[in-house]
Amino acid sequence: MSEAIQARPRVTAEWLCTRCGVTNRQFVLAGTPVIEDRCVACHAKHLIWPSDRPVRWNSEAK
Ligand SMILES: [Zn+2]
Repeated sequence: MSEAIQARPRVTAEWLCTRCGVTNRQFVLAGTPVIEDRCVACHAKHLIWPSDRPVRWNSEAK
C-alpha cells in the first residue's frame, strides 16, 4: 500500500547559476526544503531552495 508515496506531486524548480547566469531547471518533489544541484553549463554546485514564487528558486553557490 504505497499509493500515497507514489502520488507525491513534483514541481519544476528554476534557478539561476550565480557563476555563469544560465537558467537551470530541475524536477523535484513538492515540499522539498533544499536540495543540491549542478549548473548544466559550468557544473558549479549550488544549493537551491524555494522562493516566494513557486517556480523561481533561490540559489547559492557551494
Ligand atoms: Zn553555471
